[in-house]
Amino acid sequence: MPHPTPTPCLDGRAFIDGQRVWARDGQTYTKHSPVDGAVLGDVVRGQAADIDAAVAAARAAFEDGRWRAQPPAARKRVLQRWAELIVQHGDELALTETLDMGKPVRWSRSVDVNSTANCIRWYGEAIDKVYDEIAPTPRTALALVTREPIGVVGVIVPWNYPMIMAAWKLGPALAVGNSVVLKPSEKSPYTALRLAELALQAGLPPGVLNVVPGYGPEAGAALALHMDVDAIAFTGSTRVGKQIHVMAGQSNLKRAWTELGGKSPNIVFADCPDLDRAAQAAVGSVMFNQGQSCNAPSRLFVEASIKDALLERMLALLPRYQPADPRQPDTVMGAIVDRAQLDTIARYIEIGQAEGARLLAGGQVVQPVPGGCYVQPTVFDSVHNGMTIAREEIFGPVVAVLAFTDAADAIAQANDSIYGLQAAVWTRDLDKAHGVARALRAGTVHVNQYDEDDITVPFGGFRQSGVGRDKSLHALDKYTELKTTWIRLDARW
Ligand code: NAD
Repeated sequence: MPHPTPTPCLDGRAFIDGQRVWARDGQTYTKHSPVDGAVLGDVVRGQAADIDAAVAAARAAFEDGRWRAQPPAARKRVLQRWAELIVQHGDELALTETLDMGKPVRWSRSVDVNSTANCIRWYGEAIDKVYDEIAPTPRTALALVTREPIGVVGVIVPWNYPMIMAAWKLGPALAVGNSVVLKPSEKSPYTALRLAELALQAGLPPGVLNVVPGYGPEAGAALALHMDVDAIAFTGSTRVGKQIHVMAGQSNLKRAWTELGGKSPNIVFADCPDLDRAAQAAVGSVMFNQGQSCNAPSRLFVEASIKDALLERMLALLPRYQPADPRQPDTVMGAIVDRAQLDTIARYIEIGQAEGARLLAGGQVVQPVPGGCYVQPTVFDSVHNGMTIAREEIFGPVVAVLAFTDAADAIAQANDSIYGLQAAVWTRDLDKAHGVARALRAGTVHVNQYDEDDITVPFGGFRQSGVGRDKSLHALDKYTELKTTWIRLDARW
C-alpha cells in the first residue's frame, strides 16, 4: 500500500496553559515557505503580554507541584509516551519542518524527528537513575546535597534544527521537574507548537510546557528580561547570545546558558589515513542542512602535498549536493531558510571573491523550485585566516580552503578565531592526533571523522561559542539548583 501523504501541522496559535490561543492583542505575521515561497499561514506575533501569560501559567504549574512533585518514575513514563508520540507523528512533523525551513524531508524524518524523540526518551530514562549525594562531613552532622528544579525556564531556539534544539533544552529541563516557556524562531515556529500538543497528549500537565511564537526583540526579549523566569536557555547567534547575558543581568540575574556560533577548523595532515573519507566529511559536514549548522567545519586546513588530491575528491562529490526540491525523498540539499539568509550567503560569496579568495565551485543563487531560496554548494580556495569568509560565520554551504606549514601553524591558525565550538584533525600519527586535539580550543574535537554524535556526550563551545553544555547528564546541571541540607546528629552514636 502506498504511504498516505501526511498533513503538515500549520497551526500558528500559541500554546499556553494547555490551550491553543491567539495573541492577547491579536497580532500575527505571515509565514512563507522557503521551498517555493508559498504562504503557510498566520502565526502569533507574541508580545510581552503573551509572555506574561505563559510565564504565569508556568509559575502556577511549578508552585502547585503538578509536575515537579510527581515521582521521577512517573515523569519518566510521560516523557517516554511523548517520545513515542513524536515517532508516531514523525511523517507529519518531518513534512512540517521541511515546509517551514527548507531541509530535505529525508533528513527531517530520519535525523530531526528521530533525534528529537531519542533526546526526550533519553532524559526520561535518565531521571530515575540520577542520585543525590551525602557529603563526607564529620559524624556530628549529616550534609545532604540534593538537586532541585530551578523553577520557570525560558527557552529560545533558532531555526536550523527547530525540534532538536528545543528537545536539547526541554528534555533535561522537564525531566527534573521545571516548567518551561519556549519561544521558537519566527522563521520556524510550527513543529515546536505541535511538540507541545503531543506532550499534553502524553500526560504532561497543562501549564508545564508553553510555547509563544514571535520575533526575538519582542517575545524573545520579554522572556529574557522577565522577572519571574529563573533561567534562560538560548541557542542562536553569538550577537544575540551576548544580549541574552546582558538581559539576564539587567533583570533578575536569571541563570543564562548560551549555545552560539562557530567557525570550526578541519585540519587534514598529509598522513591522513583515508582521503576519500576526509573529502566526504569536508563536503558533507558543511553541506548538510544547506550549511546551516553551528558545528559545520567551514575552515578546511590542508597540508600542501595532498591538497590537489583532496580537492579533486571534494569537487567530484559536489554534483550530489546540487539543491533540489526538499519535499522529494532523494534530495540531500534543500532550501535556505529565507530570502534574508540567502542574501547574507550571497553577500559573503561576493566578499570572498572581492578579498581575493579563488572560487573553485558553486557560488550561484539558483531556483530548482520557482519562488524558493537556494544556493549552490560553494568551495573557495586560497583563503587566508584574515579574510572575512574565514572569520565570520556564513551559515551557508560554503567551504573555505586554507593552507598551513606545520602542526604548530595549523593549531595557531585554527585557534585564531573568536569561536571554539568544534574541530577536526586527520592523521595516522597517534601522538600528533592527541597533541593537536589537546591544543585545539574547542568543545568537541573529531579525529579522522566528523560524523559522530550521540545524546550521551556534552555539546557546546569554548570562547564565544557559548556558555554551558547541552546533551548528556551534564546538561542537568543547567536546570537544577544544588541544595545543601545540614542535619545535626548526636555524636554519641
Ligand atoms: P539568532 O540569534 O538570530 O536567533 C536565535 C533566536 O533568538 C530566535 O528565536 C530569535 O527570535 C531570538 N532572538 C533574536 N533576537 C533576540 C533578542 N533581542 N532577544 C531575545 N531573543 C532574540 O540565530 P538564528 O539565526 O536563529 O540561528 C543561527 C545561529 O544559531 C548561528 O549563529 C548558529 O551557529 C547558532 N546555533 C548554535 C548551536 C549550538 O549548539 N552552539 C546550534 C544551532 C545554531
